[in-house]
Amino acid sequence: STALGELESQIRWNEDGLVPAIVQDAVSKEVLMLAYMNRESLARSIESGETWFWSRSRGELWHKGATSGHTQRIVSMHYDCDGDTLLVRAEQKGAACHTGQYTCFFNSIPVGGESDQPTTAAEAAGGDRFGMLNELEAIIARRHAERPEGTYTTYLFEKGVDKILKKIGEESAEVIIAAKNQDNDELRSEAADLIFHLMVLLRERGLPLDEIMRELGARHNKPTTNKMR
Ligand code: AMP
Ligand code: ZN
Ligand code: ZN
Ligand code: ZN
Repeated sequence: STALGELESQIRWNEDGLVPAIVQDAVSKEVLMLAYMNRESLARSIESGETWFWSRSRGELWHKGATSGHTQRIVSMHYDCDGDTLLVRAEQKGAACHTGQYTCFFNSIPVGGESDQPTTAAEAAGGDRFGMLNELEAIIARRHAERPEGTYTTYLFEKGVDKILKKIGEESAEVIIAAKNQDNDELRSEAADLIFHLMVLLRERGLPLDEIMRELGARHNKPTTNKMR
């Protein structure tokens, strides 16, 4: 009858009336966790825009983050070709895993004698020229979620947005000075500082690097004007 009823009939619920849902960070694209939904938790997720699951161990509906505060704001939901899996893209508040880790998938299995597995999706995709930006985005997302002690990125997030903005101001000035001095060693280092702090700001504001790239692309495809602002 309803759109929800229509959707429910597209899902291949297992014998317990559950379907696995993969949760992906909509910003960093990391795979965060897997949990199960029943009809009620699917309905509540759609209705509230935050993830609800069915806890098989506790046998109850479970609003992710209800006790930890680590809620997931849903950006999009898809089901796969044969309707037996859901994919939820979400903005993760804090850590997805109940152990306090950013993603549940922190246990690596050595494959082909290789014990040093890539730890982030970006690393695993690897290879492209600006892959380091992807990697950095994922590392910054981890620091933001986990706040490990003694790292500079944690320090920035703890200090807050004003500190990050102050650093961007300083690093911008240092880029300008390096360029004026015609010193490329200095410029390389200051440009790296500036990009890093800018990326910390983007994570703090929840703005994915993808959107910056899309913006650059959109401008690139526009007819040229000499009115650059
Ligand atoms: P939370 O939903 O984050 O408030 O956590 C409440 C409880 O849900 C935890 O104590 C765990 O039992 C369970 N839980 C939270 N996150 C996960 C997860 N990523 N995978 C499995 N169980 C979880
Ligand atoms: Zn499938
Ligand atoms: Zn976990
Ligand atoms: Zn600097």
